[in-house]
Amino acid sequence: MQKMLLLGDEAIAQAAIDAGMSGIYAYPGTPSTEINEYVMASKEAREKGIVASWCANEKTAAETALGMSYAGQRTMTCMKHVGLNVAADAFINSSITGANGGIIFLVADDPSMHSSQNEQDSRFYGKFAMIPILEPSNQQEAYDMVHYGFDLSEKFQVPVMIRITTRLAHSRSGVVRKPARPQNKAGLPANLRQFVLLPAIARKQYQKLVMNQPMFLQESEQSSFNAYVPGKDKRMGIIACGLAFNYLMENYSDRSVPYPVVKVMQYPLPEKHIRKLYEECDSLLVLEEGYPIAEEMIKGFLNLGKTVKGRLDGTLPRTGELNPTLVAAALGIAQEETLGIPSLVAPRPPSFCAGCPHIDSFIDLNEVIETYGKGRVFSDIGCYTLSALPPYESINSCVDMGASITMAKGAADAGLVPAVAVIGDSTFTHSGMTGLLDAVNSKSNITVIILDNATTGMTGGQPSAALGKIEQICKGIGVEEDHIRVIKPLRKKHEENMKVIREEMEYDGVSVIIPRRECIQTLNKRMREKFKEKTKAAGK
Ligand code: SF4
Repeated sequence: MQKMLLLGDEAIAQAAIDAGMSGIYAYPGTPSTEINEYVMASKEAREKGIVASWCANEKTAAETALGMSYAGQRTMTCMKHVGLNVAADAFINSSITGANGGIIFLVADDPSMHSSQNEQDSRFYGKFAMIPILEPSNQQEAYDMVHYGFDLSEKFQVPVMIRITTRLAHSRSGVVRKPARPQNKAGLPANLRQFVLLPAIARKQYQKLVMNQPMFLQESEQSSFNAYVPGKDKRMGIIACGLAFNYLMENYSDRSVPYPVVKVMQYPLPEKHIRKLYEECDSLLVLEEGYPIAEEMIKGFLNLGKTVKGRLDGTLPRTGELNPTLVAAALGIAQEETLGIPSLVAPRPPSFCAGCPHIDSFIDLNEVIETYGKGRVFSDIGCYTLSALPPYESINSCVDMGASITMAKGAADAGLVPAVAVIGDSTFTHSGMTGLLDAVNSKSNITVIILDNATTGMTGGQPSAALGKIEQICKGIGVEEDHIRVIKPLRKKHEENMKVIREEMEYDGVSVIIPRRECIQTLNKRMREKFKEKTKAAGK
């Protein structure tokens, strides 16, 4: 079969196309963004009529995928770990509705918080929802697991979670493709009441989910992704989960580990393999990316007194990504001294792109805020969060998507007036609109600045669901028309813009200011494409 050099994210996307997926739904979020982007750019996906769509947020994406599963077709919804918090309601309940067509929740975790506000471990959610979880250790497994995941989902009529982490998502490797499978024909679920979560039905469905747990365990114990690998040195047994298995192997150039190893790529944890390891070895070492979930569970279900080492006892750091060096230290392997970072690799602190429209917005805002005193600007999550850093130091909070407006409202309710929220156009439709409705209903005294750069800039310029609609949305929510003001963030308009900001901050009620100027990156891209088209049309 054809072999391709793919990022982990791309391997997942290609696998979904090959495995007969009919639709993929997502909200962009590092490190999962490239999955949907790959499907969108794929000629093959287009020819097969696969729907690939960016949604307003992860919850709407998950629910749309659930609708496609209801209609009998295979579907995937992708998000980063914190996106699963947004989709959690749909995700947990989907384990109760179950699936018709295969449905995969692809969640990309970000240990070490390379571009996230926390490093939560999505395996907890999978365990909470009581569904099978797959965790690949390399790109080929990621590819294979998508095929297997759809089959598993259809076999047990339950959603399946595939959990990856940043390094796997964003590193490249050769991947051998499987023969392409046809898509499912659309068709209703055999039980038409299955997706109706009225208490009487939900109780039955929940019972079914609970009854299925031993089968999920059996499936995991028989899965070819989980394995007991014998080893001669029984002083230690190793349990290596997902990508940590790869880190373990990197320490043995001939891929022969002297200790017995249980490779865990599918959950529930394969208890039989782990018990065998425990009985054979003097102690256990657990290697896993993220939280010490497997370690805690193993300590819980073995509970027989032998030492279990891992992240909890300090053998491995409690936080951050694993890597082969940390694993080597846990194995007691002496490390050769590594080379330092050459001076050529200069530190590059994050900053706005030169010419970013947000720069002028924050210069305007900072000068107005000086009159009132610092500590009253509540931000959301996007490129504009960079304004927390010098030289701007404009914002005082950044908690989760949508929290800017609601936190400003809470602060205003507490008497911190004026209170200002800054939120991007895409984030506004992701989860800011409901907060604005609360503020309007309570007649809160807040000023909301919706930074409209006509794109989702932070994740690489995906379309914003709010494009061309912000004023109408605000009006529809109930913001007074006179207090919806559009400005152009440009140096030459500094005085004019400050006047507008000052007027709206003085207004006792909800006001919205929309600084509107396209992200310089998408503008440049658009111009390049236009130039290419022109040159092509001119036959050059
Ligand atoms: S990507 Fe766009 S919005 Fe983000 S910093 Fe650069 S110019 Fe500004």
